[in-house]
Amino acid sequence: MIKALKELAAGAADLICPPDLYCICCGKIIDGSRTYRLCNECMDSVKWAGERVCSKCGKRLSDIDPGTVCFSCREHPHIFDRGYTCAEYGTHERAIVFSLKYGGRSDIASVIGGIMADRMLALYSADELVCMYDIVLPVPLHHRRKLARGYNQAALIAESFSRIAGIECDDGILRRVKETHMMRSLTPDQRRDNIRGAFEVRKHRAGELRGKSILIIDDIYTTGATIDEIASVLRTAGADRVEFISFASGADVVKSA
Ligand SMILES: [Zn+2]
Ligand SMILES: [Zn+2]
Repeated sequence: MIKALKELAAGAADLICPPDLYCICCGKIIDGSRTYRLCNECMDSVKWAGERVCSKCGKRLSDIDPGTVCFSCREHPHIFDRGYTCAEYGTHERAIVFSLKYGGRSDIASVIGGIMADRMLALYSADELVCMYDIVLPVPLHHRRKLARGYNQAALIAESFSRIAGIECDDGILRRVKETHMMRSLTPDQRRDNIRGAFEVRKHRAGELRGKSILIIDDIYTTGATIDEIASVLRTAGADRVEFISFASGADVVKSA
């Protein structure tokens, strides 16, 4: 009921001001031909991931980081195999993600799905990409939070990505069984404790994961605690390889010892 009302309200708002006429980041009026529905300034301001990225988690490497693996991945070994990201999380990236998650702008999910597909297609051919993964799984939202928001933004992004990439997407295999606290202010160790036991593979679906190569989809990657927890659950169910792609990842913060 709440979802139906929200959709109705969003639909009415779209008739008055169609969302594709406004930049998804700053809200400025744009013409319909703009790439990713971003105005020129926002397109130039988003810190797109280029070629110097962490070979483990895919985040942009800091200019002062001489290695090929980011500081965070050097400090915390991961359970997932590897990751990709489209941009570095900053003010512009946050504005886009907050509109999608907290502003009722579910239409932004398809733009992000397209950005993710382009990121992968910049690195691999379409033929290579379709063979890399058996299935795409969005990070699940707890059912109470999904009810309040009206949708799981990661599931909408995953649907859009999988349509372009030609890889099956399944929102029914993973389940979030624990409501977790907001992770923003927690340290990496606190995040790991907070997220432990939060995910489950639905029992009747577990057999489908044996030997599979999986791509997890999320909006933001910070310390990797969420992706690692999911990777561990998927591995227990027999998954062979677990990778992820996020829209934006936290900066490579290099700390001296
Ligand atoms: Zn803009
Ligand atoms: Zn990394």
